[in-house]
Amino acid sequence: IFDSGQSKSITLDDIFISVKTTKFYQYSRLPIILKTWFQLAKEQTWFFTDTDNPRHQNQTNGHMVNTKCSASHQLKHLCCKMSVEYDHFLESGKKWFCHFDDDNYVNIPRLVAVLQKYNHQEDWYLGKTSVNKPVDMFKKPTNELLYTFWFATGGAGICLSRSLALKMLPIASGGRFISICESIRFPDDVTLGYIIEHLMEKNLTRLPELHSHLEQMKLLNPETFRDQISFSYSKTAKGWNVINVPGFNHRYDPTRFLSLHCFLFPHFKFCPR
Ligand code: UDP
Ligand code: MN
Repeated sequence: IFDSGQSKSITLDDIFISVKTTKFYQYSRLPIILKTWFQLAKEQTWFFTDTDNPRHQNQTNGHMVNTKCSASHQLKHLCCKMSVEYDHFLESGKKWFCHFDDDNYVNIPRLVAVLQKYNHQEDWYLGKTSVNKPVDMFKKPTNELLYTFWFATGGAGICLSRSLALKMLPIASGGRFISICESIRFPDDVTLGYIIEHLMEKNLTRLPELHSHLEQMKLLNPETFRDQISFSYSKTAKGWNVINVPGFNHRYDPTRFLSLHCFLFPHFKFCPR
């Protein structure tokens, strides 16, 4: 009856949720998150951006972090935010680090339920691969294949257990992550894969419940929405890549995230009765 050991069951409060965003999306993508899933994880979610906005600082109760990372597309700048996210997670003392992009909808209850299946005291790298083949690293200039590794795509969501994150500390903390990005010349999510799979020799565990807009969103069955952890959207030359969910009209809710939120939580304040 008495559990003398550490209880493995976690709650939302054990998760550090970080969202990468930028001033370019502060009036388009950010408001949708603030209106929907952020309301279910206000204390646990932090935004990593490159600007100061008192209104958003107020709306999030101070959860906007100005990383001072440059808002440019240079590799070292893109890796800069992940580096700051990781350092903030270490500082937070939480059991899980989950990173998302600002075009993700996070189904909070499902995120908690899935993480409960894993032990944060073990090493876990949870995510979804972007393509069905691993990254090949070649030796320059001979092009000899050096090694191969998998990585979880940042646009679907990535979770690391504290145990794993702590083991990365000597090589990745305090901005060292940025140096690794620059040395291998890959984006932040690929660099995470390089550090974890190649340097630390821990394998990625695939979570099928994570979704990036590399997938066709309309192929997700609404009957399974409740089981999914993340969703995404994108606007392409061919139109919107969005989930097929009933709800608000497409002009008012082009990303479908407001409709998805009401589909999952019909009693929410802005949802029709
Ligand atoms: N992003 C950023 N700085 C930029 C451009 C994008 O921090 O200059 C972030 C953006 O907020 C998002 C992620 O990087 O969280 C991916 O950006 P986006 O969805 O525009 O590009 P994708 O790689 O998905 O095509
Ligand atoms: Mn995106």
